[in-house]
Amino acid sequence: MKIAILGAGYVGLTTGTCLAELGHDVTCVDLDEARIAKLNGGEVPIFEPGLEEMLRNHVGAAHLRFTTSIASGVDGADAVFIAVGTPSLPDGDIDLSFVEEAARSIARLVKPNCVIVVKSTVVVGTCKALREIIAEERGALDFSIASNPEFLREGSAVSDFLSPDRVVFGSDDPRARALLEKIYQPLADKGTPILCTTNANAELIKYSANAFLALKIGFINDVANLCEQVGGDVNAVAAGIGLDKRIGSSFLAAGPGYGGSCFPKDTRAFAAIGRKHGTPQSLIENLIASNDARPQALADRVLRELGGDPHAVTIAVLGLAFKANTDDVRESPSLAVINRLLKAGCTVRAHDPKAMQAAAPHISGAELCDDAFAAVAGADAVIVLTEWDEYRQMNVADVVRAMRGRLLVDYRNLWNVANIADLDVHYVSIGRAPAP
Ligand code: NAD
Repeated sequence: MKIAILGAGYVGLTTGTCLAELGHDVTCVDLDEARIAKLNGGEVPIFEPGLEEMLRNHVGAAHLRFTTSIASGVDGADAVFIAVGTPSLPDGDIDLSFVEEAARSIARLVKPNCVIVVKSTVVVGTCKALREIIAEERGALDFSIASNPEFLREGSAVSDFLSPDRVVFGSDDPRARALLEKIYQPLADKGTPILCTTNANAELIKYSANAFLALKIGFINDVANLCEQVGGDVNAVAAGIGLDKRIGSSFLAAGPGYGGSCFPKDTRAFAAIGRKHGTPQSLIENLIASNDARPQALADRVLRELGGDPHAVTIAVLGLAFKANTDDVRESPSLAVINRLLKAGCTVRAHDPKAMQAAAPHISGAELCDDAFAAVAGADAVIVLTEWDEYRQMNVADVVRAMRGRLLVDYRNLWNVANIADLDVHYVSIGRAPAP
């Protein structure tokens, strides 16, 4: 199958590489010349475990190409996947302009019978609107449109794509359904459930799934707040409720709140589409408000614990990415915490194994350290904000010895409370009482 992918970001590049792995002939198109030049020079512009090696294999075997030319990229393609960004507008609604522009740009270039597949996360009704845009541009074209939302997680994108819990696609057109079945046949052969439904259902499934997962995170953070007041341990509570198969244990790690390129914008878009259709999503509206307020509350807690003049204080922040195993800092709670501390007058030294370059423009005023211990040395407080294994494996006694002050704030509950009990340090974590 000849496939073109518009957008070579986290999703487009992973989709393109994995579709080549499934045996298809793939061209990834991106308007960002620097990105394509890097890819053509053998460099992968994002950090995603396992991607680089797989990508190189398929580039080497000429099954995977990169170009900035939409015309040559989509030429002769049986399917064109749209995987461009869908950011938030200032009012929280979704900005569909990149998706619409992508659809417009291919309308005159695709071959007849081509299937246009919307991989970007879009609100219900988008496929229908794109059909009209393409028809406006090229009325006589016989084409199909389908929705194929992506559920991969950054940090495990390749394995999520190749071993997903399910593949969902939606189209009101049998030709599109048949083509998508063929594209994903290798996954179906491995036993992956394939859910084929309507355009509208597929679009709704993606938003509902992300809203639900974000709710689990928001819920466990509320439970953690309660635990702190009543002497509970949120880890024990999460383990206890997660064993219930109806609930499941994933997305029950208390922490600084959800961030990243998906949950914040997707919950906002879900709330906005609810308002637009007179069906307010009150659970999600409340979730957004409490998640937005959380980084500031966590930063203020550090300032309270430290007391005194923030201008005299040096704080080490470990972790900038919105979660471990990615270099993505979009809407990372860590950036919001750091900016709050900088605004209060603190000196902030920050470290992240992969995300320092991406974070630098968003935390001007913070000093970036190449090594976690360089950030920690002489600090009055240390705050852990991303759950990197590198931090989990640090010897906490060494961290405490390197510090000047005595405040250790573990907002990812990485460290074992019992191991810290004997150290001369004030240990603050999420929803867990200090060891007696
Ligand atoms: P991204 O910002 O990493 O990549 C988007 C790419 O599209 C950019 O490189 C940009 O230059 C390119 N682009 C924009 N307009 C273009 C056009 N007209 N033609 C060709 N290229 C164009 O975004 P992403 O994180 O890959 O997300 C893409 C979509 O997938 C979004 O809708 C997102 O919500 C969804 N999604 C993301 C994830 C994730 O974990 N990142 C997971 C599931 C779904």
